[in-house]
Amino acid sequence: MREIMLLKQGEMVLKGLNRRGFEDKLMGNAKRRLKRYGSFKVYTRQSATYVEPQEEGCDFEGAWQAMGKLFGVAGLCRARACPKDKDAIVACAKEYLGDKLRGAKSFKVESKRADKTFPLTSIQLSQYVGGELHDAFPHLTVDVHHPELTVHVEVRDYEAFVHADPEEGAGGLPVGMGGRALSLLSGGIDSPVASWMIAKRGVIVDMIHYYSYPYTSPEAKEKVLDLARLLVPYTGKTCVHVVPFTRIQEELRRSCPEELFTILMRRFMMRIACAVAEKNGMQALVTGESVGQVASQTLEAMACTNAVCTLPVLRPVVGMDKEEIVRVARKIGTFETSILPYEDCCTVFTPKHPKTRPQVADLEEAEKALDVQALVEEAVAGIERVMLEL
Ligand code: ATP
Ligand code: MG
Repeated sequence: MREIMLLKQGEMVLKGLNRRGFEDKLMGNAKRRLKRYGSFKVYTRQSATYVEPQEEGCDFEGAWQAMGKLFGVAGLCRARACPKDKDAIVACAKEYLGDKLRGAKSFKVESKRADKTFPLTSIQLSQYVGGELHDAFPHLTVDVHHPELTVHVEVRDYEAFVHADPEEGAGGLPVGMGGRALSLLSGGIDSPVASWMIAKRGVIVDMIHYYSYPYTSPEAKEKVLDLARLLVPYTGKTCVHVVPFTRIQEELRRSCPEELFTILMRRFMMRIACAVAEKNGMQALVTGESVGQVASQTLEAMACTNAVCTLPVLRPVVGMDKEEIVRVARKIGTFETSILPYEDCCTVFTPKHPKTRPQVADLEEAEKALDVQALVEEAVAGIERVMLEL
């Protein structure tokens, strides 16, 4: 008997007239992710998206894992198809959900009929299947309010499906419904989480990374690309813009006060990111900043970096504690890579006593010693683009 997947839509069911657009995007995103696991049919009925293998050799397990990372899906379950007959449905439930039925203490059956010509009503079907399962698994009690296990039966046009409760999906909205943003991705814990959170809201996320060869190693850059690769199952195809940053850092060291070094450097990062984003039609930047985490993340410091930005800066982890960010990093699988011990360009030339309350005027004064525009243009011209496919 065939096994299929059922994806339950999340927040997008609230989208009223736009909903069709969200559903189409969700199905398109699902299809692109499923390609490498074989041939699958994807269609939507009544706010559930069905994923059905079309051939024997499909990698169902791989596809299941991939759908667990698809934004827009609130919950997902595996379901078994069977003929539209009440006893076939009972037999299917006994076999397919046998382990779960043996392991549970209480249960109930919930039925849905899309095919209104089916001889039993939903209530009659639930009662029949429930009675038969109760006979087969007499240790179970029926609990219609808080059952440990709910056996779901769906009678559709050509066949019926049996499944247990859905598992939690990735949540959010389908990527592609929320515009485009450019995320400043370092090798740390926070920025991969920030990128993931914005993609979760349906935004297409490209990445930008600044590296300072030879002060930072090729391994440090590779680590950031690895982090971006870990995000691709969530974000979909993405581009990492790798910016040579050494020249700017050397100029800053030569010409500017040491205590302002970090914040001046961050203003250059923002200028370059804005230039890249605008050139590529992106509408916002994303960073992994969190208030008060380090000297460059005070409100004053953020005001100084915002002052050179021509686009909104999204900071999704701004109010999160480090521990909360770490929890998300573990959940999405980036934590282990983030803690690998490679240096970041921010840690090169770190001032001993960074100014925690910098003023825009001081920074503008310090920048008079530099040809800001030329340095930005030179860095942008040196960008290497790495495309990461699904
Ligand atoms: P993370 O854990 O994300 O590295 P952090 O706590 O180390 O953050 P900072 O080093 O101050 O914080 O960086 C703040 C933000 O600036 C990062 O979250 C990231 O968005 C951006 N950033 C820092 N360094 C780089 C870099 N080398 N390339 C791209 N973005 C960077
Ligand atoms: Mg960092």
